[in-house]
Amino acid sequence: MHETALRSSPEVSTIPPDGGELVPAIAYGVEVSLVVENTQKILDRGGLGTLVQALLRRGYQVIGPTVRDKAIVLDQIESDEDLPAGWTDEQAPGQYRLKRHEDKAVFGSVVGPQSWKKYLHPADVKLWTAERRGGSFRILNNEPQPPRPYAFLGVRACDLAAIAVQDRVLTQDKYHDPIYGGRRNGVFIVAQQCTQSAATCFCASMDTGPEVRSGFDLALTELLDDNQHLFLVQVGSARGVQVLAEVETAAATAAQVGQAGKAVEAAARQQVRSIDRTGIKELLYDNFEHARWENVAGRCLTCANCTMVCPTCFCTSVEDVSDVSGEHAERWRRWDSCFTMSYSYIHGGSVRASTKSRYRQWMTHKLASWIDQFGTSGCVGCGRCITWCPVGIDITEEVRALREGGNDGNP
Ligand code: SF4
Ligand code: SF4
Repeated sequence: MHETALRSSPEVSTIPPDGGELVPAIAYGVEVSLVVENTQKILDRGGLGTLVQALLRRGYQVIGPTVRDKAIVLDQIESDEDLPAGWTDEQAPGQYRLKRHEDKAVFGSVVGPQSWKKYLHPADVKLWTAERRGGSFRILNNEPQPPRPYAFLGVRACDLAAIAVQDRVLTQDKYHDPIYGGRRNGVFIVAQQCTQSAATCFCASMDTGPEVRSGFDLALTELLDDNQHLFLVQVGSARGVQVLAEVETAAATAAQVGQAGKAVEAAARQQVRSIDRTGIKELLYDNFEHARWENVAGRCLTCANCTMVCPTCFCTSVEDVSDVSGEHAERWRRWDSCFTMSYSYIHGGSVRASTKSRYRQWMTHKLASWIDQFGTSGCVGCGRCITWCPVGIDITEEVRALREGGNDGNP
């Protein structure tokens, strides 16, 4: 039987896959730490339902993958029955298709169009309302209330990395976003180890996946074959220990731990796309005038889909609206995109009027200037921008073309 021990410390730690050692990890608003001696446990299929109920009992809004509109989307989960058991997806540049799977894998699909920023950095936020009273204009006291804490179920490695990127951008600079901070605080994360990759995934080359290494409370690896449907559970925080104590588990065997590790390694080997990150910043900075930008501009529709689905893109703009009587006004913050003309509008016109300049701005920010600003890449290799681009523009192919191509824009 494996033993779990806790001790207090100001540092938060998680458990490496091989167990035992104290390792610093990403954690937000949690001030405990953990020493765990091999905490890998086994949960059966029924235990997954009990885990969801344990999270609900603790007052979390449980958010997880579910099927809607022929896609895997994120939504509120009331029970494990809401999870997409028996579904898988096929992804390719500009293509996404949901299919029935012959087995009942709960996590048998890969990332869908939505990411967790839907909850942490929502698309539309009302900043304030105001009304006319007599001759004066009065801002109402409408501080946004953070929602009930979330429990995110099924967070993959690339999306955990994306959350860490948004934590850095929105909470760790001189100016903090209190809306993001209020929603992020206290989030309980049940991560999911990917055991398959889509054709558009390239997290292995970005060093963000497919293995979940830190930043979670619990991490599940689904083990499914003719004889078993189990989940290997890694514990990553004191809260994870407490929640798991309410669920019936068994100690994991060495064979089960090995099987889980091999499944994640297989998902990495499955990836057919990659970005060579060697000198990537310089590659982008040195090629502002490369003919490839005209080439991609000939295909790009500037629809902004890539920025909407990207789990790290954070740009917003502010809109004021009033009713027809002029008695009531509201200020809204909404997602915006560097692909729109209006985003770079200053008096007299847009700074980036051409498609070429907007695509170049997006890709140069993601892969180069983001590193200068925030210390990491702005791309975590989730592949969403490739799948959801209506014309199938592929960021990995664009990097390769810049790296390998002549100045004619063709690789
Ligand atoms: S740029 Fe594309 S692949 Fe990279 S994180 Fe954003 S959506 Fe994912
Ligand atoms: S790259 Fe694709 S998704 Fe992004 S703006 Fe252009 S057409 Fe739209």
